[in-house]
This record gives sequence, structure tokens and C-alpha cells, in this order.
Amino acid sequence: MAEFPITLTTTPKQPPADDTLRFGNVFTDHMFMMEYDDGRGWHNPRIVPYAPFSLDPACCVLHYAQAVFDGLKAFRGPDGRIRIFRGPDHAARLNRSSERLCIPQIDPELIEESFRALIEVDQRWVPAKPGTALYIRPTIIATETFLGVHPSHSYLYYVILSPVGAYYAEGMNPVKILATDTHVRAVQGGLGAAKTAGNYAASLYGAEEAQKAGFTQVLWLDGVEHRYLDEVGTMNIMLKIGDEVITPPLNGAILAGITRESTLRLMRDWGLRVSERQVAIDEVVAASQNGTLAEMWGTGTAAVVSPVGELGYKGERIVINGGKTGALTQRLYDAIVGIQYGTLPDPYGWARPLGNRQAAA
Ligand SMILES: *Cc1c(COP(=O)(O)O)cnc(C)c1O
Repeated sequence: MAEFPITLTTTPKQPPADDTLRFGNVFTDHMFMMEYDDGRGWHNPRIVPYAPFSLDPACCVLHYAQAVFDGLKAFRGPDGRIRIFRGPDHAARLNRSSERLCIPQIDPELIEESFRALIEVDQRWVPAKPGTALYIRPTIIATETFLGVHPSHSYLYYVILSPVGAYYAEGMNPVKILATDTHVRAVQGGLGAAKTAGNYAASLYGAEEAQKAGFTQVLWLDGVEHRYLDEVGTMNIMLKIGDEVITPPLNGAILAGITRESTLRLMRDWGLRVSERQVAIDEVVAASQNGTLAEMWGTGTAAVVSPVGELGYKGERIVINGGKTGALTQRLYDAIVGIQYGTLPDPYGWARPLGNRQAAA
């Protein structure tokens, strides 16, 4: 186990009460930092008090968006133990995102250790109320000072932590999503499969339009024909038509969600018929009309499993399962959350407890 130098804050804050938590607006007392320079590699890993850092106005990430991040969660179970959900998988994905953005790889064990060491320092910030978690945000930004387009010669890796409640104001209640045939998030060959800052900038305009029209998020269709389902803003999309569960394949334009993979694994182990295949928006509309569209839901770390109660497309509103959470959606949510909080067995080894220590009371 790596040991990192730790500088503790002299002004610790009071964590907010669990039932006041929202998403991503409160941060803990410390952060993890490490730099990269060509020739030296990654160096100087350390835990320091959470604080702003300064960047040169010509810092290349501010101009050319060479940045990647990931997002995962740690949970405090009723047994008091803290578990990180699929840390090694998130570390591996951060490196895959980095590769696409010409950012140097980090030893995946070091990434995982950065999560564990930081959470250990800030463990009193891990909330306990069901539905809450500690969100972990590892980020890499290009830090060289230059104007001109080439991969940076220096980087900053940092990790911040945020105690969070439900991602959507709706909680586990169904969300409304709008399929847009005007805006596009990503195309095959582009950056869609990388968790990179620019993808979210690209999504803002369409998301604002959807919100103005009364929807929670956008359902992105493919960038060429505007016909096949890609994914939702921060979630992969799944639906059940008849007895077939369908989710779009990893085609290079969508993010390879770890919650997507977890739910696919569960459903296959439950013996369900699961297809990773293209699904056209017309197929969804037709299934709704002939009564076979049973359920639709999104998957993602932030919301875990989020039922879709309504789908907007070309001025029509399709209500799914009476606007209620479907049985399979609920079953998936319960199964994943049970593993995350340690209230169900974890046959896949997804939720690794932090150290052996019991949480402080
Ligand atoms: C993070 C993210 C997801 C969900 O991935 P998880 O690993 O399940 O959290 C899906 N789509 C996009 C665009 C994302 O950024």
C-alpha cells in the first residue's frame, strides 16, 4: 500500500447533515494532488487541504480542453464500513480516457490508492443515510503554458470528494427525457467514449432546450442519422421491449458506463434476454404504440438506476409504464444499492471495504 505525505487542514469544516445533501455542491477538507512533467513522469503524490489552485491564463487546458475525469462513489453501510464501488474499473477507465486525449497513463494501483488514502483522511465526511454517498472525482488537466495546439508536456492529477444525496431532484422517481434530432453529443471516431470535459460543454445547449421544454435530460441520438439511441446526458440508456432488454452497443460514441456493465452482468446472471444492439427511436415509438414498451431506465454512478417515465420526441410525449418505476428497474436498483451498502452479498467483488477499521461514530 502506497503511503502519501499528508498535510492536514488547520481549519476543518463541519460536514453537512445527511438529509441536507444535494449533488456536488459541498467538498471535504482535503484533496489529492500529483504532477506530471515530461522526463520526470508522475511525481509528488500528496494529500493537502482542499484549496483553490492558480493557473496561468495561458494554461493550455483553459484553451484546448485537454482534460479527463471520472466519477465513482464510496458508501457507508449500516455496518459502519465504507465501501468503494468498482474502484479498479474506474481507474482503468480514467486511463482509457487519458489515452484518447494524449494524456500520460497513471499506474492504476496508484489511482486506486489515491481514492482510498484520501477517503481515509476524510472518512468522517462519508454520509450514512440510505441514498447518500461520498462522490469521488479524479481529474486530470493539462497545465503547460502555451498557445498552440499540441499535447501538453505537463499535467495535474487531483482528486476531490463530495458528500452527495440524490442526483435528480426527482430522487428515484421517474425522469422525463427528450430525444433531440437537432443537437448531437458525439459521433463515432470522436470523443464520445472518453470522459472528457468537452463532451459536457457540447451537451449544454441541447440540455437547456430540453429543460425549457419541461424535460430532465436529453436522450442523444446518433450523430449521423439522428435515429439510433446513444445515451442520456450522464447515463447510459436501457429499455425493455417485450421480454428483451436492449441497450445500445459500445460503438465509440457512447461512454462505457460501469453501472451499465454492472446491470448487464446482473441481468445476464438472472437469465434475462439482454441485447447490446442498435435501437432506433422509431422502434421505441412503435413499441409504445403496440404496447410492448415495458420499461426504460438510465444507468450511471450519480443516479445509479433512474427510471424514465416519459420520453419526448418530435412534439409527442410517450408515457412509459404509466410514468411509474418498472419492476425490473426497481430490481436492478435494489440489487446494486444492496451491494454498494453491503446489505446484500457481493459475489462479483465490486464493493471493496476501506481498510479494516470501523467508522468513527
Ligand atoms: C459517466 C457517464 C455515464 C455513466 O457511467 P458510469 O460509469 O455508470 O457512472 C454515462 N454517460 C456519460 C456521458 C457519462 O459521462
